[in-house]
Amino acid sequence: MAVRGRVCRVTPSTVARTPAPATPDAPLRTWGGTHSWQPARRVAPRDEGELGVVVADAAAEGLTVRAMGAGHSFTGAAVTDGVHLSLDHLSGIEAVAPQPDGSSLVTVRAGTRLHDLNRLLAALGLAMRNLGDIDRQSVAGAISTGTHGTGARLGGLPTQVRGVRVVAADGAVRSASDAAAPGSPDRELFELARLGLGAAGVLSAVTLEVVPAFWLRAQEEPWPLDRVLEELDEYVDGNDHAEFYWFPGTRRALTKRNNRATVDEIEAWAAARAGGLGAVRTAGARARALLDEEVLSNGAFEVVNRLAFAAPGLVPRLNAVSARALGAKTYVAPSADVFVTRRRVRFVEMEYALPRAALRGVLDELDAWLRASGEPVPFPVEVRFAAADDVWLSTARGRETAYVAVHQYAPMPHQRYFSAAEQIFVAAGGRPHWGKMHTRTAEGLAAHYPLDDVARVRADVDPGSVFRNAYTDTVLGVAAG
Ligand SMILES: Cc1cc2nc3c(=O)[nH]c(=O)nc-3n(C[C@H](O)[C@H](O)[C@H](O)COP(=O)(O)OP(=O)(O)OC[C@H]3O[C@@H](n4cnc5c(N)ncnc54)[C@H](O)[C@@H]3O)c2cc1C
Repeated sequence: MAVRGRVCRVTPSTVARTPAPATPDAPLRTWGGTHSWQPARRVAPRDEGELGVVVADAAAEGLTVRAMGAGHSFTGAAVTDGVHLSLDHLSGIEAVAPQPDGSSLVTVRAGTRLHDLNRLLAALGLAMRNLGDIDRQSVAGAISTGTHGTGARLGGLPTQVRGVRVVAADGAVRSASDAAAPGSPDRELFELARLGLGAAGVLSAVTLEVVPAFWLRAQEEPWPLDRVLEELDEYVDGNDHAEFYWFPGTRRALTKRNNRATVDEIEAWAAARAGGLGAVRTAGARARALLDEEVLSNGAFEVVNRLAFAAPGLVPRLNAVSARALGAKTYVAPSADVFVTRRRVRFVEMEYALPRAALRGVLDELDAWLRASGEPVPFPVEVRFAAADDVWLSTARGRETAYVAVHQYAPMPHQRYFSAAEQIFVAAGGRPHWGKMHTRTAEGLAAHYPLDDVARVRADVDPGSVFRNAYTDTVLGVAAG
């Protein structure tokens, strides 16, 4: 290939914005500190052509290849002892195609970070239909583990993917989309590439279906947990995006409901910005929002967690104080600003997707275990929702889903808590988030996913197992080849 001689920028300094090693030889690490590793080589291709050559060269040398986005998975999804790829140079929007129904198909380079994408879309008057609660991830990394937000009528990020470009082991670029005939090789490649832990090859571009920019009215209110559970269906189905945080050891929850704001509400917000009484109310709500973000996610929360680490016996009282410190508030803002929060406190996390009907029993069991064990857990349990979808490896495949996430402050022990929670989740038919901690293997996961279809596509597109790693071996099975 003509470009072969000008690629493979193998010095670690070319790896921009991945969790930066302190020294050139320092290992790479995940955000949560759950894995650290030393790849054989680190490469940051400048464009799709270079990417193809890097992959083909690695395959020819017998090395495996794994791209990493922001390293925000807690599992070993991005770990490799072969060639580590940063796609940070492959960033930005390539094309926008307005659709007759008002949506748009936006083709995005795979390394684009979600916060950059949100900004670029906003400038075009567009937005992602739904998002998770942070925006640090890359587009490819986020879809590859099934990143999701909340909303009973909405699916996770892979359901918003309409097409992909994937670099195969021979360096060739293949395109695939949902327009391909069901059962055709292109359609099957699309299914694995839009949520497949990088097993279908390296994504170089992703076509997303996005919507006209919209604003949300965010309502946050502390409720008794029992009220949330008694009114669950109304709460979840009656709001565009419903979620809640439950504080272990208490029966209190912080509810969060986000619904499309009306033009009147947006105009009132604009008037408030221009001054007057509304401005006072808005300023109050924003101050409250910032305070709550501190209580739930950042500065004050770090202090709470340090106290919990130093004196675990204080945790029940700390949780009671945190639960009471959160106040009610309503505000209106552009969708991405409402979906996304900052997370400065380092934690580890396990999240399972459950049949929605199992939620109440699962929370009861978790509560009983936490009370009986006295386990110190200063982090709230997070509960979100999603519609059933048909993505091969989606945790919401074929069923209305409630996501339950347990977290622990990174320096504190999590094994006993996560192991107990996982037993409860698995007994309820739970499926682990592909990017969050769990101990499941392909043997158990085969009951939930079409792993035979996955194996067939992998054998077809990656006969030399260039895109495998220990994590794909564990959860998808050892690839043929
Ligand atoms: C603070 C925090 C908040 C989070 N919030 C949420 C949330 O709200 N909802 C949720 O569902 N999850 C959430 N997550 C999990 C997170 O969204 C996923 O783990 C996501 O995969 C991380 O994206 P990343 O860009 O860091 O990908 P990485 O972790 O770097 O990689 C994930 C996978 O994608 C693969 N990959 C990356 N780039 C490519 C590519 N170009 N081609 C092929 N494969 C590729 C990697 O090899 C790996 O298998 C959160 C995680 C953290 C740390």
